Amino acid sequence: MEALARWRQYLLDAAETFEIWTDHENLKYFWEPHKLNGRQARWYLKLQDYDFILRHILGKTNTKADILSRKDQVNTKEDNKDVQLLKDEMWTRKNTSKIKIFDEKRRVDESDIIKKIRKNNTREKEIVQAIKKKDGLAWEEDKVAYMEGRVYIPNNKDLKEEILREHHDPADVRHLGQHRMQELIKRTYWWQGLKEDVKKYVQGCVKCQQNKVQHQRKAGELHPLEIPEGLWQDISIDMIGPLPSSNGMDAIVVIVDRFTKMIRLKATTTNISSEGIAKVYRDEIWKIHRVPKTILSD
Ligand SMILES: [Zn+2]
Repeated sequence: MEALARWRQYLLDAAETFEIWTDHENLKYFWEPHKLNGRQARWYLKLQDYDFILRHILGKTNTKADILSRKDQVNTKEDNKDVQLLKDEMWTRKNTSKIKIFDEKRRVDESDIIKKIRKNNTREKEIVQAIKKKDGLAWEEDKVAYMEGRVYIPNNKDLKEEILREHHDPADVRHLGQHRMQELIKRTYWWQGLKEDVKKYVQGCVKCQQNKVQHQRKAGELHPLEIPEGLWQDISIDMIGPLPSSNGMDAIVVIVDRFTKMIRLKATTTNISSEGIAKVYRDEIWKIHRVPKTILSD
């Protein structure tokens, strides 16, 4: 939902149907008819604006596929309050070679975590009761419990620590902050006190505490961004990559006019030289829009 809001100007009324790729465990909730809570009702309204197909990235285990294949078991009990968030044709499941590339890079070896959960099958009161209710919010499948579509993690320090570590320490997550780390873990896992555990973990990370001190020192020098006043006067340049290689290119230079949000994209490589960047600047900005007042870049 965040991505849709962020890229609204590009996605709304897009000429082509766009695709959303997700490995979200909660996908089940999007197509299984159920009573919507306030937040989901707002999502439901927002989703109506877009023309898209939701694609699911399969994990290494079959757990996600299993969740999706529950489609056949959809409760057919009549209830006019039951709303399906996404229409059937918006659903597709695919495990193409391209997606596998992303899949291989997954930080957490989920099959490994699932194996450990099966070995350590202790259940806390909350999950046992939730499963008993049989209201579709919690269930058990193949010795693994699920809470609101997320994998339930038993109260086991090592297991929790492994998940926390994998969502914070590896180079590709680069010491995520509390909130983003919590969001990331919540996509797949559920346990009681998750928020507190994440907080403690980040606070206990030496590198994070060092960074915090440095950021605080710099804070005084930061100025809020000025609001752009005209076309192509204030632009931002960013690089996205490395991506799976296509025609020898593995990165994209993204140039955005901060006033109109108009976007220019240029295929490139991650090892682009400063001369290369200068050329992109010349051809994509200067030639067409002349010299901007400000250029924003990470
Ligand atoms: Zn850290």
